[in-house]
Order: sequence, then C-alpha cells, then structure tokens
Amino acid sequence: MSSTVTTESPEHRALRATVAALGRRHGPDHDRDRLWAEAGALGLLGIALPEEYGGGGAGLSELALVLEELGAAGCPLLMMVVSPAICGTVIARFGTPEQRRTWLPGLADGSLTMAFGITEPDAGSNSHRITTTARRDGDDWVLTGRKIFVTGVDIADATLIVGRTTATATAATATTDTAATTRTGHRLKPCLFVVPRDAEGFSRTRVDMVIDAPEHQFELVLDEVRLPGSALVGDEDAGLLQLFAGLNPERVMTAAFAIGMGRYALGRAVEYARQRQVWDTPIGAHQAIAHPLARSHVELELARLMTAKAARLYDDGDDTGAGEAANMAKYAAAEACADAVDRAVHTLGGNGLTRAYGLAPLLTASRVARIAPVSREMILNYISHQSLGLPKSY
Ligand SMILES: Cc1cc2nc3c(=O)[nH]c(=O)nc-3n(C[C@H](O)[C@H](O)[C@H](O)COP(=O)(O)OP(=O)(O)OC[C@H]3O[C@@H](n4cnc5c(N)ncnc54)[C@H](O)[C@@H]3O)c2cc1C
Repeated sequence: MSSTVTTESPEHRALRATVAALGRRHGPDHDRDRLWAEAGALGLLGIALPEEYGGGGAGLSELALVLEELGAAGCPLLMMVVSPAICGTVIARFGTPEQRRTWLPGLADGSLTMAFGITEPDAGSNSHRITTTARRDGDDWVLTGRKIFVTGVDIADATLIVGRTTATATAATATTDTAATTRTGHRLKPCLFVVPRDAEGFSRTRVDMVIDAPEHQFELVLDEVRLPGSALVGDEDAGLLQLFAGLNPERVMTAAFAIGMGRYALGRAVEYARQRQVWDTPIGAHQAIAHPLARSHVELELARLMTAKAARLYDDGDDTGAGEAANMAKYAAAEACADAVDRAVHTLGGNGLTRAYGLAPLLTASRVARIAPVSREMILNYISHQSLGLPKSY
C-alpha cells in the first residue's frame, strides 16, 4: 500500500472509502462495542499488525488513516490509539513468541483489548519520575504503585503497565521507598508488564472526567500484584527502547484522532453555514464566518500532511526521524482540532451549545489531544531542545 506523503495511492483512497462507509453506517450515536467488533472483523484494527498473527501486514500509515476516517464520521475509536497501536506494536516488536501468539490475533480482530498505563499522580509529564516498581520474587514479578487517567481499563483484558525494575533483591527493598531510591542514587530501569484486568491487588477507580466519550479514565492501584515471569514484555535491560517503540505510534494515532474530530466539526459547521440564513444570504457567505472555517481546513490539511510524514518515517524504520515528526504532527493536529471545534461551535450560534447539534461536547473532547499523551508544552520543550538545540529550563 505504498504512497508518497503528498499523494495518496489508490489503495489508500480505497481504504479511506471503506472506513468512511463504515463510519457513516455507525455515526456519532454509535454503539462503541459494535463498531469495535465490526472494525475488527473487517481487519481494520489489526491492519498494521503482522500477517502471521492475524494482522493485515500494513503499517502505521494505514492504521492512522482508519482512525482519522472514523473520527471524521463522528465515531472515533479512542482505544485504537492504545490497543493495536501502542500495545500491539510493542508486543509485535519485543514480545516473546508466546506473548505474540497469546495477544496479537485478538488485538488484531478486536476480540482482545489492551490498555496502557504510564501516567502517575506524582509524575505526570515527567515520566522519568514514575515510582511504580517491579521486584523479582523467584520467577515472579511483584508490582507496586499507582497510575492515573488510564483509558479503557474496564473494557481491556489487560493493561500494559510501565514500571521500574530493581536490579537485585537488595535493591528491590530500597525501591519500594522512592526517597531511599533517590538517596542511594540507584538507577531503575523502565519495563513493561502485562497486568490482567482481574489480577489480585490490581484495583481501579473511575476518574470523573467531563468528556462525553464511551471510553473512561481510571486511577489504578497496584498493591503487591504478583505476576508470572512471562508478564514482562521484552528485555529487562532494554526498557526505554521498547517504551519508545510504542510512543511514536501513540503520537501519530493521537494526531489522527484529532484530525478526524476536527474534520467532523468542520464538516458540520460548513453544512450549517451553507443552509442557515438570517439576512439575504446564507451565513457562510459572510467572510467572518467563512474565513475561520477556511483557515481550519488549511490547518487540518497541514496537520494531516505532517501526520502522514511521521507515519511514513515510522513505517520506513526511521525511529529518530519519526520521533520528531510524530511530536510535530501531534502538536499541529491538536491545535488544528481545538481551533476547528471552537470555530464550528461559534458558526452554529446558539445551536452550537445545544445537545441536539452535538458539537458542544467536542469543546472538552478536543482538548484531550492538547494534553495527552504528552502536552503541547512538553512537545514545544522537545522541539526547543532536540530540534533547535536550545538549553533546558528543567
Ligand atoms: C482523556 C485522557 C486520557 C488519557 N489516557 C491515558 C492513558 O490511557 N494512559 C496513560 O498512561 N495516561 C493517560 N492520560 C494521561 C496523560 O498522558 C497526562 O494527562 C499527560 O501526560 C499530562 O500529565 P498531567 O495531567 O499529570 O499534567 P502535568 O504534568 O501536571 O502538567 C500540567 C501542565 O503543566 C505543564 N508542564 C509540566 N511540565 C512542564 C515543563 N517542564 N514545561 C512547560 N510546561 C510544563 C503541562 O504542559 C500541563 O499544561 C490521559 C489523559 C487524558 C486527559
């Protein structure tokens, strides 16, 4: 399914048409579970996973396209960002053959779902500060810590949890105490663990978010959660590399999510502005209404181009290039989305704030891509330091 970034291949256009038709059938009032199952059955969730494990063998470019088109139809599947994109990628690239056999076919057809938990209440944007620890006990791992804002834990069969391993049994004792860890200066390695939804000691509390979405966020407590040795994904010593493998797809998919939502809002506003007439011409003829919408179209198209570039770099195996591009794409898409929703709501006047027209809830939903998985300020920090070589303030 190759295409350049600036022109879409016939295969990509056909894929867009298929997904758009699916999205139209389900629409904004969709039943999430039914749409998820249908997208899985059509091979859309697993499109980027390896063929030998039931996937489509395509890439992130195609997976992002699927999410964008569903979003443009008003029915984005947020768990696509997490389950096939982050978790599927990490397991496909670093999982044992057994983990791949156990998880990938189900993640591909949608019969299994996996959430992803890295954020912690006291670490937030600073993931170097996470304190969830994994200590060896014989062949087992024992996880202790807290996570926050983790999406979809209730509907996921398991959550891929980022913890820090302790190198030795002696160090393990120290790491249950963060202060002790800091005092000794002991370096703990980030590692990924598959934690089943019903594991003993693994509890969740829903966070009361003001977001109108079928997926919910949870605070998690891991209280001495005992897992078999096989719960560790990948190499104990390669932590960051494995983690980063999932983070570029996460940013590209968040960009696709935002572009889809922005396109949906813009489409609704354009439709309204063509019809609504309170003077002699439809309101869309007034440039004060038309130009902001035109600007959003330009901004969404630009974000789309950057997203396609990031996905393409990732699919070509250029993880470093993809890192910068994925951050830029996420930033551009989040800004374009939030602005498009704001302008769309304004275009509808009073109707913009009614439940019937369905745009007002997007005012909060569109903020999500500005905050998660990494805030716009942290992206600007990254670009300042990595791309421009400016000094750090923190
Ligand atoms: C809807 C939703 C779904 C989510 N889903 C998941 C999930 O599935 N899994 C998961 O692990 N996490 C998830 N998150 C968490 C998300 O990744 C975090 O909210 C995000 O990383 C920001 O962390 P924080 O909320 O702790 O903000 P903080 O880190 O407390 O930041 C607060 C503000 O300070 C700014 N700030 C912080 N440090 C700096 C700095 N050095 N320079 C400039 N500004 C700075 C930030 O940009 C931000 O504006 C989700 C969040 C939301 C809202």
